[in-house]
This record gives sequence, structure tokens and C-alpha cells, in this order.
Amino acid sequence: MKFKKTQIPFLGLILVLGMATSLLAKENPALKMPIKVLMVGGGSSHDFDTWYKGADVETLEKDGLAEVTYTDDPSTILQYLGDMDVLFLANNQPIADDATRKAIFAFAEAGKGLVLAHPALWYNWEDWPEYNKTMVSGGSRGHNAYGNFNVSLTEKHPVTKGMPKNFSLDDELYYYKVDPAGPGIEILAQASNTDTDPFPSIFIVKHPKAKIVGIALGHDAASHELEAYKMLIRNAVQWVAK
Ligand SMILES: [Zn+2]
Repeated sequence: MKFKKTQIPFLGLILVLGMATSLLAKENPALKMPIKVLMVGGGSSHDFDTWYKGADVETLEKDGLAEVTYTDDPSTILQYLGDMDVLFLANNQPIADDATRKAIFAFAEAGKGLVLAHPALWYNWEDWPEYNKTMVSGGSRGHNAYGNFNVSLTEKHPVTKGMPKNFSLDDELYYYKVDPAGPGIEILAQASNTDTDPFPSIFIVKHPKAKIVGIALGHDAASHELEAYKMLIRNAVQWVAK
């Protein structure tokens, strides 16, 4: 095939554009396929529909970062999970079905990503101690009265990238404690006020296979509408999906 002289610069331009596009696709997450997230909510003490199904899903789906399937019916977890990159647990209602519990553990063993948010860091289920031990490496059995406290980042990490080093908000300060029998955690941020010693607020669970981020913040509007929180959940989903 012969090209006219005038066609050659044109072909060169197409080649350069093609290379630029593929480079952009690699470096710009907005051009990647959205991360598939299954978010599970539901239970007591929280407005799950407003703050998880509503606000957080919108935050995660902005600019095509993620495609979120939300459910507050734990019996549907099994049917969705196989197709997901990330499991985002924000529920405190029971996940009672044994096959679903096994599937969540297998999801982690397969090296997938989990984000465990606020209600899911509680010791919710007496009949499922393996959840707290293996996935949360501990948990909360109490918190202070809802009110203002400080959050301080303790190290640089992709999960907290772009967040202010120190900020304050109204929320419940979870008394999260590490279970020494679990895999342990790496603390990324601590929460404290004048009444309490610092507690882990944002952390990585050192699960041998899965990437797991724990986020103790998130009781209501004061956290879910905070810019730092929005950055945090977007960063967390991106980091655990890798
Ligand atoms: Zn709460």
C-alpha cells in the first residue's frame, strides 16, 4: 500500500494521538473502568439510606470512579459478591447465613479489597467472633457521647492523601481496640478529645491476603458531608481495589 506524501504527517498524528490516549488511560483513573463496589448497609441507630446509600454512593460514583451496588438485604450479598472488586461493609444488622459468611472470608482470601465503615467496626455479632478477629482485628464496644473531637493523621499514605493533617468534626469517637489474636493494624489516623486517649480512627488491617481499610468515622451528616471524609472513602476504595 502506497501513501501520498500528504498522508504521512496525518498518519503520524494518528499514531501520536493513539499513544497519548493509552498513556492517559493508564494515568487517569477517570478513564479506567469504574471500580465495582458492593456496599452493605442496614441495621440500627443510623440513617443508612441517607448517608450510605445516598451520600456515600454519590461520592464514590462521582467522575466514574466506582460503580456501586447498594443493598440492605444481607441475603443478596452472595449473588453480587462474585462480580465485585470491593466489599464496603457499613451494616450493623446480622449477616447470619453461613454460606455468605464463608463467601466474605473467601473474598478476602482471594486478595480482594474491603472497606469496613463505622457500624461495621462494632462488635455486632456474638455468634461470629471470627469477623472481628480476622477482618477488623478488633472492634468497638463503646463510644463517647456524640460530639466534637479531633482527628490527626499519623503517617503519609495513599488512603489519606489530600486530607488535612488535623481536622475536627462532630461524630461518635469509637473506642476501637486491637485484638492481639488478630492480624494487627497499621494506624493512619487517630481520634482524640480532652476526655479520652487517642483511638485508631483510620487504619489498615494487616490481613495476610486482602487489602482492608477500617474507618471509624461516619455517624451522620457531619462526617458524610465533610470534604475530608469524601476524599477518604474515594482513596480507600481505590487503594483496596489495587
Ligand atoms: Zn454511629
